[in-house]
Amino acid sequence: MRKLDPAIETAQPRSGGTTPQRDEAGDTIAASPGAKSQERWERLRDAVIMMVDDEPITIEVTQIYLEEAGYSRFVSTDEPQRTLDLIRSERPDLLLLDVVMPDTDGFDILHAMDEADLLEEVPTIVLTSSTDAETKLRALELGATDFLSKPVDPSELALRVRNALAAKAYRDRLAHYDLLTGLPNRQTFVNRLDWALRHALRHKQTGAALHIDIDGFKQINDALGPEHADQLLREIAERIGNCVRGTDTLGRAESDERQPSLSRLAGDEFVVLLPVIAHTSNAAHVAKRVLDAIAEPISLAGQVLQITCCIGISTYPENGEDVNSIVANASAAMHQAKRLQKHSYQYYSSEFNANALHKLTLATELRKAIEHDELSLFYQPKLSVGNGRLCGAEALVRWQHPERGMVSPGEFIPVAEETGLIVPLGEWVLNAACQQATAWQAADLRIPRISVNVSSEQFRQGSLLQTVAKILVDTGANASQLVVEITEGVIMENADANIQILQAMKAMGVRLSMDDFGTGYSSLSYLNRFPIDELKIDRSFVAEVAQPGDYSAIVSAIIAMAHSMRLIVVAEGVEHQHQLQFLRSQGCDEYQGFMISRPVPPEEFSARFLATDNPAQEIGS
Ligand code: C2E
Ligand code: MG
Ligand code: MG
Repeated sequence: MRKLDPAIETAQPRSGGTTPQRDEAGDTIAASPGAKSQERWERLRDAVIMMVDDEPITIEVTQIYLEEAGYSRFVSTDEPQRTLDLIRSERPDLLLLDVVMPDTDGFDILHAMDEADLLEEVPTIVLTSSTDAETKLRALELGATDFLSKPVDPSELALRVRNALAAKAYRDRLAHYDLLTGLPNRQTFVNRLDWALRHALRHKQTGAALHIDIDGFKQINDALGPEHADQLLREIAERIGNCVRGTDTLGRAESDERQPSLSRLAGDEFVVLLPVIAHTSNAAHVAKRVLDAIAEPISLAGQVLQITCCIGISTYPENGEDVNSIVANASAAMHQAKRLQKHSYQYYSSEFNANALHKLTLATELRKAIEHDELSLFYQPKLSVGNGRLCGAEALVRWQHPERGMVSPGEFIPVAEETGLIVPLGEWVLNAACQQATAWQAADLRIPRISVNVSSEQFRQGSLLQTVAKILVDTGANASQLVVEITEGVIMENADANIQILQAMKAMGVRLSMDDFGTGYSSLSYLNRFPIDELKIDRSFVAEVAQPGDYSAIVSAIIAMAHSMRLIVVAEGVEHQHQLQFLRSQGCDEYQGFMISRPVPPEEFSARFLATDNPAQEIGS
């Protein structure tokens, strides 16, 4: 035993340990069932036991008994007045406290510990030679966990100590760990990050937090049911845990606090802490490993699932020097990753902040715009390739901002989708388009079909079908006048549920169009499963037909295959005569584009396109 102070003795662990283990760090490894009780005992044995007794010989004897029982980490003092300081500096897991001591007795110490909120943290067993029940009762009333009679009986001592430590470990577990996965919880993560951050700042080192969030977990949860979803979360936790344990991005880690660790923040959110990394780019290696591990197929409930996730990385001190900034920035980076691409990772960058702020402002203003009628619909004609007659109009939303002027839908639709505002916005658009249809009809104008863009978020939200039905009734518009334009997202995500919605819409008489075809991942054969009437070839393909090394072959193939599936083919973004000629040669059915007209206000649309039989002829196409 090494003497640090005449009054304080600290015994070091027998086998190579270092600082006292304080929060069961490193418990992320799911042990096999047999190994679990062994591991639990090992952890208890690793506890730091503190003794306060005015008689050094009692300390010595008790320590020998405890060593025989398997414990090895002790702190002791025969100066009771130093108890509180020692508890604060050594943070023991258990205190053995003598009651009868000169000057400061055990009761005084219990009282002082209570005042300093230390009794909650450190279970205390009082040692007393008194046999009178009142003394023992008083100690318990003052907050002692248990008592032992002096002289101490070794087996009694071992039993009481083990019980007290096990109870503390269990309590700590509940407070610091997530019951579902056994991982450290948010609080533990925050404590560890706080420690790691201060250590890194002191030693001019770098570390990182990786915020992991499963893509579309809500839907997965709904589809699987809570029991299987829990199982899935455990599997995911295990997979991420394996990546983290295999992390070799560290410098030489010396203690548990410097080891990478995985915690569960909430629901489907996990966080990996890399307390020290040689270079910020090392965090990306871990992120990639996690992405790969999660993407491996998972067999669950008789199905094979492929799960994806997004990861936000915040490094310190670069992205913040306090816990809150690191946590907030990792989360912001994760959301940025989600916006950019499914199954990806992103480093935090301060530009995100500006970007996020801009979006936040835009979202607030958009909310007002919906309420204050700052939105309007413009209409772009759709013409027949064969005879130039008007066959429809696409309604495109416009936002006349009081200060910024016209804001492009390309800017505000994504914000509306992210914030859920797309639902009221989409409803407004549907309503306005149907009202326009009835207004034109009432004016005895030959109304074309009106196409309305519907975002996949509106499908996700669940009440789209009822909304469409209600708007048709309210406005008196005919379902056959309405075309709903969907994007590939609708058929790629949540396919089965969305097929049902689409079939019901179709049963109502609404036509369905696949917009921007070719930009997503769907194939024509996949499209076959959906009750689509029309396919719009994305304007990026149309822009490059009839040029060297162009998309002509792809466009011809899309047209031919779509026709074989009895779909009407519409070309978007036709700007030049040669594009129209090519489309005509391939048998494309309809087209729209700046060559005929930009989207225009309804009055202009009716004057230019509803009053004439053949707009294309008048324009000379
Ligand atoms: P989209 O549905 O593919 O709409 C066609 C877009 O192409 C429109 O842009 C239109 O102005 C533009 N366009 C038409 N002809 C040409 C052309 O010849 N050349 C070029 N370069 N562009 C052409 P806009 O109005 O800015 O809308 C952009 C996108 O915003 C739309 O793409 C659609 O995805 C979305 N959007 C617009 N209105 C709504 C809406 O009411 N609801 C939803 N969910 N999305 C909307
Ligand atoms: Mg469209
Ligand atoms: Mg389009």
